[in-house]
Amino acid sequence: MTLPRPNVAILGGGPGGYEAALVAAQLGADVTVVDEDGLGGACVLTDCVPSKTLIESSSTMTSLGRSASLGLQLANGANPVVGVDAPALNARIKALAAAQSNDITEHVAAEGIRIVQARGRLTGPHTIEAGGRTVRADVVLIATGAFPRALPDGVPDGERILTCRQLYDLGELPEQLIVVGSGVTGAEFASAYQALGSQVTLVSSRERVLPHEDKDAAMVIEGVFRRRGMNVLGKSRAEAVYRKGDSVVVTLADGRQVTGSHCLLTVGMAPSTKAIGLIEAGVNLDSRGFIEVDRVSRTSAQGVYAAGDCTGVLMLASVAAMQGRIAMWHALGEAVQPLRLDHVAATIFTEPEIATVGVAETMIESGQVKAEVIMLPLVTNPRAKMQGFRDGFVKLFASPRSGRILGGVVVAPRASELILAVSIAVEQLLTVDQLAHTFSVYPSLSGSLTEAARRLMMPARPRAPFGEPAQ
Ligand SMILES: Cc1cc2nc3c(=O)[nH]c(=O)nc-3n(C[C@H](O)[C@H](O)[C@H](O)COP(=O)(O)OP(=O)(O)OC[C@H]3O[C@@H](n4cnc5c(N)ncnc54)[C@H](O)[C@@H]3O)c2cc1C
Repeated sequence: MTLPRPNVAILGGGPGGYEAALVAAQLGADVTVVDEDGLGGACVLTDCVPSKTLIESSSTMTSLGRSASLGLQLANGANPVVGVDAPALNARIKALAAAQSNDITEHVAAEGIRIVQARGRLTGPHTIEAGGRTVRADVVLIATGAFPRALPDGVPDGERILTCRQLYDLGELPEQLIVVGSGVTGAEFASAYQALGSQVTLVSSRERVLPHEDKDAAMVIEGVFRRRGMNVLGKSRAEAVYRKGDSVVVTLADGRQVTGSHCLLTVGMAPSTKAIGLIEAGVNLDSRGFIEVDRVSRTSAQGVYAAGDCTGVLMLASVAAMQGRIAMWHALGEAVQPLRLDHVAATIFTEPEIATVGVAETMIESGQVKAEVIMLPLVTNPRAKMQGFRDGFVKLFASPRSGRILGGVVVAPRASELILAVSIAVEQLLTVDQLAHTFSVYPSLSGSLTEAARRLMMPARPRAPFGEPAQ
């Protein structure tokens, strides 16, 4: 006798939704995804993918800026002209995002998953209404994401006062861009537009940029920003933004005013959880409107799971996808490991990038975690010298008792790629000895990671000979 296929309905087709759909289909469920904007979600269409595509262009600009120091000469001698073709840049970004969304749609459809392109809402814990039809399901997953917040006195108009989702409709590069908010999104866009040639003012309500990130890393980035000519305003809370002809004026809490051609608001994200029948279906929200979930993505309503930004757990595509997969493994009876946030790897795509994984140094400083810390500046690394950069470091945290690697920070160009070695060490419970005994290429930036591990090796333990010289 064959058992009936379980029905799964997913509201929202971002990484939280479509990755869950793929797992559910793999496990034999009959799956429907309801999404109004396109698969890949905001992640692919407006947020992560477009911003990283923009940053790919701005990084190339930064590299071109280093060319003279590398002994290269761009045409036109001392005044090289590398301009930005804003319409072409933005068209590339939008086309790439659309192509990525199409690839995901094709992949999902090929797995036999039904896609309903419409706005949907719960009409009960086991029913979603969308596009004039009702989808009934044994298991429902909510993955509706989040949207950029605005200031009460700073309403985006899509022309000069912008959210991060409106940047790619601009027909020109902002001449003087005021970025309000110095968290991850603000720092990334400030870095990118400064590199592309905008005069950027970064308005930070806190003492330093990236207030929630590794302090040493944030200080490196702030130093780079200032050196490249960015106007960084610390301890400056923006109260209001308004248009004045072809300019924008940002009023700060202390009465100062900053004028520019455009203003980008990066003041956080709000969950897309309103008016979709959640409360009526028994799904609890917290005081900020995020869906409350446990570590296997269950909500307060039986059979209803939630994943991604709408839960506010950690607003990253990788976390959204993992929450969605965990939900399906749990709902469909697979063995599942609850979500572990202390193993999440993340990158801030400034120039240079900041990549982190595992425990943070603040946890060590507060006594919450016992760990030894080593930080190696990359200025002495031969590969860094060859590449012509000086701003960066690698940092490792290791247990003083077991030598286990508990986390790390890399500040370097492409730190997002370098962090994988530390991520594997954290996930696989490797010790500093094991990382130290691992071959790295000479010369390489990753060589500084193995060298950091060597320096953390317990003095009492015998030191083995190494295959490569110190980096
Ligand atoms: C500028 C920016 C850059 C970022 N860069 C990175 C990065 O580099 N790396 C990283 O890991 N993360 C990054 N993030 C975060 C990442 O984009 C999010 O964590 C991720 O998109 C969350 O995925 P999700 O599935 O929860 O929701 P989303 O990607 O927001 O998708 C939600 C989907 O649900 C649909 N939807 C919502 N309500 C309904 C409804 N009622 N009916 C039908 N459909 C609905 C929406 O149309 C959307 O398609 C960035 C975020 C921003 C803002």
